[in-house]
Amino acid sequence: MKNEWLRKEIQNFEPYRVAPITVPIVINANESFQSLWDLPEVKADLAQELAAVATNRYPLPYADELRELVGAYCGKKAENILLGNGGDEMISLITQAFLERGDKIIVHSPTFDMYAIGAESMGARAIAVPDRDDMTHDTEQLLQAIAENDPKIVYLCNPNNPTGALWSREELDKIIKAAPRIVLLDEAYMEFAEDQEASLLPELDNYLNLYILRTLSKAFGLAGARLGYLAASPEAIDLVSRVKAPYNLNVFSQAVGRVALRHKEKVLALVPAVQQQRRALLAELSSIGRVRVFPSATNFILLQSPLSGEIYEALLGKGILVKKYGAGSRLADCLRITVTTAEVNKLVADTIREVAC
Ligand code: PMP
Repeated sequence: MKNEWLRKEIQNFEPYRVAPITVPIVINANESFQSLWDLPEVKADLAQELAAVATNRYPLPYADELRELVGAYCGKKAENILLGNGGDEMISLITQAFLERGDKIIVHSPTFDMYAIGAESMGARAIAVPDRDDMTHDTEQLLQAIAENDPKIVYLCNPNNPTGALWSREELDKIIKAAPRIVLLDEAYMEFAEDQEASLLPELDNYLNLYILRTLSKAFGLAGARLGYLAASPEAIDLVSRVKAPYNLNVFSQAVGRVALRHKEKVLALVPAVQQQRRALLAELSSIGRVRVFPSATNFILLQSPLSGEIYEALLGKGILVKKYGAGSRLADCLRITVTTAEVNKLVADTIREVAC
């Protein structure tokens, strides 16, 4: 095999790799610290569903029952929903369906890397509009970039990974109306926002150029089951379905998703505990001298400090892994910390205080 046989666009790409994790406390990937299987009635239901799974048969290509359940959760019909192998697959499908060499896409920055990586893999050019120093979004600059570049897709992450910042509905409305073609609005973390009014799901019918991405990896605590979805008009769903593999969601994931959605009230009742821990950790961290933290509507907090390297090492020394960013990146002096239990949050804050007070 030869590198030069690859498509030119991806000849310099590296496969996604995660270094082996050797510490007990892993708060680097915005995973949930709560498990819905700890709820006895949910666990019992899962056991029953899994026992009935027919692994000798292919799964339903559109996960019909789960699609109905997710549609109801979003206040939409099944035909407004496309399910797949995590939000990651949804980003890939949009990329494959719409982007070709020479297209331009617009992202705000910093944001989830997969938008630009996916676009560049198709030969499209990513134009990044920087957020302000305080990590709030610069809507005016974004509107200008849209006007100047005629982008195929505009990617908006709300609330944003890795900054936690939330766009208001009014700002989003301006951007979506200004975008000449597709907007992908990623609401992967929306359930953690105190202000659910920020979601555009209820407004979906007003925007024919809009895909909203959501996932069960975060608030539903199902990162390992790989369940993500798009909500959009039925026509928009049909367009991306053209590149979907026939059986993209396996029978186990479909079963797990059905159980989670049937118990959605109980599962979502776990969210206020995350919000409370986020408030507490933000308050703790913002009282530390050489640390800056940014308001977050998610289950993680972005921390900036001239001592970020020392803080990272001190946390590792206590068996805690957080997310750090590459030298040279705008976030080189930042760490992203997933909100977790009160005990671990306290250990995190105490450790940071020792280094940076
Ligand atoms: N969007 C954002 C903003 C994310 O942070 C992630 C995961 N980290 C995803 C989408 C994809 O999530 P998943 O594939 O687990 O659904």
